[in-house]
Amino acid sequence: MSRPKIRDDLALVKGYHSPQVEVDVRLNTNESPEPPPAEFNIALRERLDSINWHRYPDRAALELRESIAEVESAAAGQALDADQVFAANGSNEVLQSVCLAYGGAARSVATFEPTYALHSHIAKVTGAEVISAPRDANFNLDLDAANELITFWKPSITFLCSPNNPTGGVETAETIETVLDLVESVGGILVVDEAYGQFAAHSALELVSEDRSLLVSRTFSKTWSAAALRLGYLIGPRWAVSDLFRVVLPYHLDAFKQAAGKVALDFHHEMEARVAFLVEERGRVAAALDDLPVDQWPSGSNFILFRPRTMPGDELWDRLLESGVLVRNCASWPGLTDCLRITLGTRAENDRFLASLRDVLG
Ligand SMILES: *Cc1c(COP(=O)(O)O)cnc(C)c1O
Repeated sequence: MSRPKIRDDLALVKGYHSPQVEVDVRLNTNESPEPPPAEFNIALRERLDSINWHRYPDRAALELRESIAEVESAAAGQALDADQVFAANGSNEVLQSVCLAYGGAARSVATFEPTYALHSHIAKVTGAEVISAPRDANFNLDLDAANELITFWKPSITFLCSPNNPTGGVETAETIETVLDLVESVGGILVVDEAYGQFAAHSALELVSEDRSLLVSRTFSKTWSAAALRLGYLIGPRWAVSDLFRVVLPYHLDAFKQAAGKVALDFHHEMEARVAFLVEERGRVAAALDDLPVDQWPSGSNFILFRPRTMPGDELWDRLLESGVLVRNCASWPGLTDCLRITLGTRAENDRFLASLRDVLG
């Protein structure tokens, strides 16, 4: 018997890898440092009583999508409705659905590196060719390079990530509009991944409209303290949302997830307070890093990318881990030599990180 071989085009593609290590201080995957408020658990338990477990869930997840539309209308500066919302199992599944609908074989998907690795990964796994242009030395988008890439390749999908993971930078509204114009001129669609959108000063949600080829994705994994829930969504034109429903599996959002997502949204004021706290911590940690022998990049997110000046990134990562602090090791990622990324945690966790860093760097 010979075993089946994975598709030829996937032979060299690796899976997602982020070590799940048991340590005191885990600041490596950009989660919220706090669980949802206790009242969330109480409200969720009550809501579970009304689920008809023997029936399939609402396939359209209408109530959840209505609630998302309502909460995001504020950030969008316009009244959104459920038909402009697509939700799925994590924003990764949202992005996968976009790739299934608009990418795939004989099409290309554009990224600007370094950026979130799952954009190119999901695009490849769904059969598209990935084309990329590098960001400039400060990780800002190089508009000339973007222009060349998009006009030459005419990608079906172009990804931006704002704030960008792992560099932290936020694209200006002008940059997003410029790229959107380019993307539309070749008949493509622009996805702005705003997994960390709530931590930044402005959002591409304002640009969403029926006559623009723009999708803005967000997630419950970071801001909403609910990484375990696996729930993400995008806001976009109604025609795109309806295209996405054509490719996603039927009943993809289970009843539990729909209920929990809706309950989480009832606590949006608490979530906003947590976001404000993390933004404050970001300022405090960045100021502390200024006094240490590291380079750092301005972040509009809940993490900071930095690079030690006096030792290799791998060594610093090891030493921090020995002291019980796990950060993300980006040292071997393309364009990020020696860089590490710290997720902002509780005040105590951030202090532990800073103390360990001072210790190691002398
Ligand atoms: C964490 C993250 C996501 C979230 O993915 P989920 O599947 O919603 O947990 C999406 N995009 C970026 C850039 C991220 O960093």
